[in-house]
Parts: sequence; structure tokens; C-alpha cells
Amino acid sequence: MLRVEKLVKRFRVKGSRNLVHAVEGVDFSIAPGETLGLVGESGCGKSTVARTVMRIYEPTEGSIILDGSDISRLKERELRPLRRKMQMIFQDPYASLNARMKVRDIVAEPIVAHGLLESEKEISDAVLAILERVGLGKKHMDRYPHEFSGGQRQRIGIARAIITNPRVIICDEPISALDVSIQAQVVNLLKSIQKEKGIAYLFIAHDLAMVRYVSHSIGVMYLGKIVEACRGDEIYRNPLHPYTKGLLASIPAARPVKNGDYLKPAIEGDIPSPIAPPPGCSFHTRCSFAMDICRTEAPQMKEMSTGHRVACHLY
Ligand code: SF4
Repeated sequence: MLRVEKLVKRFRVKGSRNLVHAVEGVDFSIAPGETLGLVGESGCGKSTVARTVMRIYEPTEGSIILDGSDISRLKERELRPLRRKMQMIFQDPYASLNARMKVRDIVAEPIVAHGLLESEKEISDAVLAILERVGLGKKHMDRYPHEFSGGQRQRIGIARAIITNPRVIICDEPISALDVSIQAQVVNLLKSIQKEKGIAYLFIAHDLAMVRYVSHSIGVMYLGKIVEACRGDEIYRNPLHPYTKGLLASIPAARPVKNGDYLKPAIEGDIPSPIAPPPGCSFHTRCSFAMDICRTEAPQMKEMSTGHRVACHLY
């Protein structure tokens, strides 16, 4: 349903000739009814992937194939009819809803913009049906976003995303701003909608614990590149890349150990600047297994077992 090939996105730094290498050659594909979990620390480029795939940003190189059509170079006029096939759920349910609009208008906006329904009655019926699908109802239609809790606002965001019957939804950290008790409800809602409508999700998160429950495949990103990818929960049973191992080790333990080891960061140091990424393997500045070759030669993706690929000189 969505195939991304050799995607590159670089930004020019204002007033300088320097480039920010936000995304450097990302490949993935998502089948109908499946979820790809894309994971990495803040600043690794995962949100830039989402925004470039949505064509909010122009891709520098590479292709984005949505339901068989290459949308990477389409002009806005040609892209517009295809936009209804791909929608987005944003991270912040507070900032992503217009505070001056009633819920009925927020949810109806995509169908009005795409001219899918015209009469007031049809639009109102469609909005009510979608609100009921996400666990809200008629009494919520004429309220404003500030009258809702975070979880309810994210349900409104989901309603707005699914009202055009999209084939792909980009979920950019849709649960990270919610209370833990609400996260499971929103994830279960997304899963049941996917089962019913066969939508493909690109689910972006900053930790591997969050995507385990929703993903059919997982990609781990570091400094603009996918460094490990696999099907199912293989990454949790058999992580290969030192960065993936570090991310897994940084998931907080339910029972902290006695000697305080849990306080030690699993990955030392900060993510390097994407303006001057390190040569060779971009993780070598933080990797305790780094060898001479890692400082000069970028590792290529290798398939280690069916569907499990890793880019690391250890393999
Ligand atoms: Fe570490 Fe080298 Fe593998 Fe990079 S290529 S993750 S530096 S061992």
C-alpha cells in the first residue's frame, strides 16, 4: 500500500551553505492492514520521514509510492485527489485541533475540502457515524476542543483522519502525550479500526516498548537511517544492532534492581548533529563495539534471517 525507496531529505541551514541530513536513504513498505513501527530517539529523523511521506516536505531524493502511484514529484494540484488516501494523526492532541472550531466542523473539514459530500445532512450524518465509531457521540458535536480530555481529543483526531476512508494513516507519536492509562484505549481503538478497514499504519514512536503491541514489522532509525528492520517481534527476542540493544535496555524495568544498575544509561552520550554526521557508521561515537572500519566505512544492510536486516560491521 505504501512503498518508500531510498528516501532522502536534507534541509539547508538558514544563512549558511550547511545542510541538515535529516533522512539519508530510508526504504520500507507497508502492506494493507499492517503496521510498521518506526522507532528512534528524538532527532533521528522519524518525524521528518512522516512529513516527507505526507509531502508536507518535498523529498530531496527517492520515491514514495502510494497504492501504485508515485507521489514523490507530483505537483500540489495532482496530489490533492490522492491526499484523501493518506491521512495523519498528530502527536499533540491539544495543538492539532483548532480551538475556535466545533468538533463537527473539525471532523467534517476533510470531507468538505475534498468535496466528498455536499448536503449539510449527509455531512452531519457522516460526522456522527465517525464520532460514534471512535467512542464519542451526538452530544460532543457542538463542543469545542478545550471541553475534552487528552484521550478524547486524540479520538477526535482519529475521527478526522478516518473520515475520508484513507488507505494509509501516518501516526506520529499518537499516544506519547497521553496518560499511560489512556494510551492502551487509543491503541486498541486504532487496532480495531485497522482490522475493520484494512488501513496500513506507519506508527512512529520513540521507544520500542510502545510499538510492540501494534506493529507487524519494526524499523529502528538512527541519525536519518534505518539500522535494523524485522518482521513481528523478532527484534525483542533477537536484537542485533548495538543501538537496538541499547534502546531495549533503556525500557524502564517494572522491578528496579537492588544495586542501582538501572540508573546507568543504556546508551552513553548524545545523538550527533545531523549537520555534520560522523563518517563511517554514524553510531560509532557511542558504540562500545566500534572497530577501526566503523570509523571509515558505512555498513550496508544485510539480511541475517528471513525479513531481519541489520547495518553493522559486527555481522
Ligand atoms: Fe558499532 Fe561498528 Fe556496528 Fe556501528 S558498525 S554499530 S560502530 S559495531
